[in-house]
Amino acid sequence: MAVSRRDREEILGSRLSGKVAIVTGGNRGIGRAIAERLAEEDATVVIGDLRDDHCAGPGAERLTFVSLDVTNEGSIRAFVDEVLERFGRIDILVNNAGLVLHKSIDDQTAEDWDRLMAVNLRGPFLMAKYVVPEMRRIGLGSIVNIGSVEGYMVNPWHTAYAATKAGVHGLTLGLAVDLGPDGIRCNTVCPGWIDTDLNRAYVEMHPDRRLIERELGQLHPVGRIGAPKEIANAVLWLASEESSFVSGEMISVDGARTKKIPLPSILDEEYRAKLAESRA
Ligand code: NDP
Repeated sequence: MAVSRRDREEILGSRLSGKVAIVTGGNRGIGRAIAERLAEEDATVVIGDLRDDHCAGPGAERLTFVSLDVTNEGSIRAFVDEVLERFGRIDILVNNAGLVLHKSIDDQTAEDWDRLMAVNLRGPFLMAKYVVPEMRRIGLGSIVNIGSVEGYMVNPWHTAYAATKAGVHGLTLGLAVDLGPDGIRCNTVCPGWIDTDLNRAYVEMHPDRRLIERELGQLHPVGRIGAPKEIANAVLWLASEESSFVSGEMISVDGARTKKIPLPSILDEEYRAKLAESRA
C-alpha cells in the first residue's frame, strides 16, 4: 500500500511520542539543534544549561529550560529531580555540553585540565549516574553522548580536549556494557567540523577568514563543513527505537574527514585541479 506524503509526515513527526528527553548544553549550537529536532519528533524536551538566553526563537515553545551546571553534582541532582517532578519520566539523555581549549602543553594549567574534564567527561558520567535509576525503572533508555573526531585524532594544542573526548568514548563503552541488561543503550556521535560559536571564534582569529573557510571545507571529502542539524539527525536515530540493537558505538558524522589520508599540499592541489577539470 502506498503511503501518502501526509501519512509519511505524520509517521516521521512522531518517532519520539511520549518520550521525555534531556539535552545538556542545549541553549545554543549543536545542543539547541538536537533539542529542536527531538521536539519535532514529538518528544518533551528539557534543556539543561547554564543560561537560557538563546532559548527564544523558532520552536522555543516546545522546549523547557531548567538550569543546570554539569560540573556541579548538587545541580545535577536538583535538575533530575525537577525533570521527574514536572514530566514524570526520563527516556533519553543527550550529553552535549562541552568546552574546548586551545593551549600548548606549556601554557595549560592543572585548572584548565580540571575544568575541561569537569564539563566534558565528569559531567556526562554524573548525568548518567543520576538518570539511570529512572531509566531502569521504565526498563528502557537511550544515552547519546557528543564525543568528537578528536577522540581519535587531534588538532595541535588540543591535548586536554582530546583526552576528554577519548574519555567520553571509553565511558560510552562502559555504560553500554554495564547497562545493556537494563534495556539501556549508550552511543556517541562524533562530529567533524560543525558551524557553531565553539569554533567560529577560532576561524575569526585568522585575518583571511574566507580562505580558512574554503580550506576547512576542502578537508572534508564532501567539500564543506557540517551544520548542527546534521548532528541532530544522527542523535535522533540513536535516541529512537529505530536503532534498538545499536549500543556502544562511536559514530562519526564528519563528511568523511577522518577517512581521508592527508596528502602533501602540492599533491592535494593537483588532485583537486584534476578533479575540477574532469567535472568541467
Ligand atoms: P557551543 O559552545 O556552541 O555550546 C555549548 C553549550 O554548552 C553552551 O550552551 C554552553 O553554555 C553549554 N555549557 C558549557 N558549560 C556548561 C556547564 N557546565 N553546564 C551546562 N551547560 C554548559 O558548542 P557546540 O554546540 O559547538 O558543541 C556542542 C558539543 O559538541 C560539545 O560537547 C563539543 O565538544 C562537541 N563538538 C563540537 C564540534 C564542533 O565543530 N562544533 C566538533 C566536535 C565535537 P554557555 O553558552 O553558557 O557557555
